[in-house]
Amino acid sequence: MRHYFLGMAAEYTDGRWFKHLFTMGRRRDLDALKHFLAKKYNGEAVLCKNGRSALTLALKEYFKTGDKIIVNGFTCYAVYEAVKAAGLKPVFADISREDLNFDYDKLEKHGDAKGIIVQNTLGNPVDIKRIEKFANEHGMTIIEDLAHCAGIRYADKREAGTVGVASVLSFGKDKSIDTVSGGAVVFRTGAGENGESTEQDTQKFSGMAPSKGPRPSDHLRARFYPMFGALCRTLTYVKLGGGLMRVLVKIHWVEKSADSKLDLERRPSKFEAKLVLRQLKDLRRTGEPALREFCFVRDRAEVLKKLQKKGYYFGGLWYEKPVSPARYYQKVHFPEDECPNAVYVAEHILNLPTYYTRKDLKKAREIIKEYKEEGNE
Ligand SMILES: *Cc1c(COP(=O)(O)O)cnc(C)c1O
Repeated sequence: MRHYFLGMAAEYTDGRWFKHLFTMGRRRDLDALKHFLAKKYNGEAVLCKNGRSALTLALKEYFKTGDKIIVNGFTCYAVYEAVKAAGLKPVFADISREDLNFDYDKLEKHGDAKGIIVQNTLGNPVDIKRIEKFANEHGMTIIEDLAHCAGIRYADKREAGTVGVASVLSFGKDKSIDTVSGGAVVFRTGAGENGESTEQDTQKFSGMAPSKGPRPSDHLRARFYPMFGALCRTLTYVKLGGGLMRVLVKIHWVEKSADSKLDLERRPSKFEAKLVLRQLKDLRRTGEPALREFCFVRDRAEVLKKLQKKGYYFGGLWYEKPVSPARYYQKVHFPEDECPNAVYVAEHILNLPTYYTRKDLKKAREIIKEYKEEGNE
């Protein structure tokens, strides 16, 4: 089947693409976002071009070249890229089929790692107490990656992003905060009086902040993607949307998320900072980030084909390979023997897109039901 490779900005419905196109940002929006993040996650915030650049900064700060870092065995290539860029050694740990987070029993054999990246896959919280105990026992440092999970809470009510030494956010396409691109890292400081940052901390981390604005081409791509997405979605009714999106990618007017370049010198656009801040505030109000519901099916290609026939657009699987997207998978040398669950999940997972309502999904669920693998709801 023809597998759509892009989300087509499907979250930007109801004219959100229009607002995105015309939101004007100022320098003070960057400052406002920085301060909001610093306060929310209790530390010093640095705004970055994307999540992987933010993660690289975090890793460089806390680890030495060659240190082993435990990475969830079901993840995005961006994470792998950041670990490598920081000069560290990624160690993939197998996952549990229940929540797509670490299989805790299998973590033990990676006790020689110096750090662990907690990703709360698809918004499912890890057993944070267990991770903390494991990390403490082995003198390991925890970094929280909030790309999937900004706004969620762990079982003990602490919010994700308030536990590790640093929290990394991505504002990329389809992330829990989505302004097409951008990222940030909050370094937990708190050595000063009343757990606040010291003057030294503030100086150190503002010195680390990227000073250059985004490349004009990246800025324009971030600006126009939701509009192009809306146009392509409309054109799918006459079967032209997929073709147009492919052309837009070919001429580089749209960039696939995974191809975003790691760049430690550039910050996000000002209008993105403004939009991120709005989304963060909404997150606080609802306290309910959109999670991706998932299930496992056999013959996934066939299921997707059936769904497409019924007019559903289920593209953008998270994830189609243990480290996705597929076109980067070979580079990773993923230890498939050690991570059978991750391999199984990548082959069978289906995510229910968050842009459909419960009612919309009713027929889709009926189609999926016939293909469901045993042992999951
Ligand atoms: C997407 C993603 C990131 C960061 O992605 P960028 O495209 O660099 O913003 C980090 N971690 C996970 C788990 C992700 O899915």
